[in-house]
Amino acid sequence: MYVLREFDPWKNPLCTCPPKYSLHPYTGCSFKCIYCYTTSYIKASQSTPKRNFINRLIRDLRKANPQYPITISNSSDPYPPIELTLKLTRRTLELLLPRGYKVQIITKSILVARDADILSKNNAAVSLTITTLKDSIAKIIEPYAPLPRLRLRAIEKLVKNKIPVAVRVDPLIPYVNDDPYDISKLIKFLANLGVQHIITSTYKVKPDNFKRVCSALPNIRDKLRELYYMCGEYKHGYRYLPKKLRRELLKIVIDEAKIYGLTCSTCREGFPEFQNAPTCDGTHLIPERINTSLAGVTL
Ligand code: SF4
Repeated sequence: MYVLREFDPWKNPLCTCPPKYSLHPYTGCSFKCIYCYTTSYIKASQSTPKRNFINRLIRDLRKANPQYPITISNSSDPYPPIELTLKLTRRTLELLLPRGYKVQIITKSILVARDADILSKNNAAVSLTITTLKDSIAKIIEPYAPLPRLRLRAIEKLVKNKIPVAVRVDPLIPYVNDDPYDISKLIKFLANLGVQHIITSTYKVKPDNFKRVCSALPNIRDKLRELYYMCGEYKHGYRYLPKKLRRELLKIVIDEAKIYGLTCSTCREGFPEFQNAPTCDGTHLIPERINTSLAGVTL
């Protein structure tokens, strides 16, 4: 396979995702979130379109299992600013969706709302990340991504177009976006907008993302170092917060989601009791509007 890969988060046993493909029209990511996990594997710091992407995708689809959902994208946003003119993600959707493939978009971008026309008629759902409602925090931790209130407007448009939406409240970073009152406000907002599923997770440290977090937030550097390096634990390539604290932080989000009748799950945390949905990643929201047995037939 050239560009369509079976999703495999480096064989992390804590991952509970169902079988699915991972597809990235772009490599690298212009949003430069300070906590980004992929920068320790992918060095490109700007979103760059993959060469000959559509042709390579067509070749891969001939060998793919059409029943697997295709997630776009797990380690680079599919709607960076360059997508506005390049329309590579749009062309990808135009190839996949009318043929019955199941697609989940994963993004922080408001540009996804542009494609509501094609997403709404096909087997598609969206997972949008919102870590905080506060612009002041978002500007520090996700410096080049659209502001949270703009993302809320994008969700509004998607829901109005009957596109199922999950939201990732992810990552929760101690002292940054873990205030229970703020989390409660965020979940209430999302529920009122018609979001169906919440995925949450705590920040996991990799040396390069920790360097960025410490440099952007010097006032909490020592406290984070203590939590992650003195009291926390090392798991599968990442430093985690102490288990008790992780459970407490995640529970704030999970309890709020339940209050508003949303399904919820955690990501690579090892707390199966926090999941009350058919899938952790929200792919169960993908509707079957086009017969999936058609997938691949006309390639
Ligand atoms: S949007 Fe996702 S891939 Fe892009 S920088 Fe942020 S965390 Fe990384």
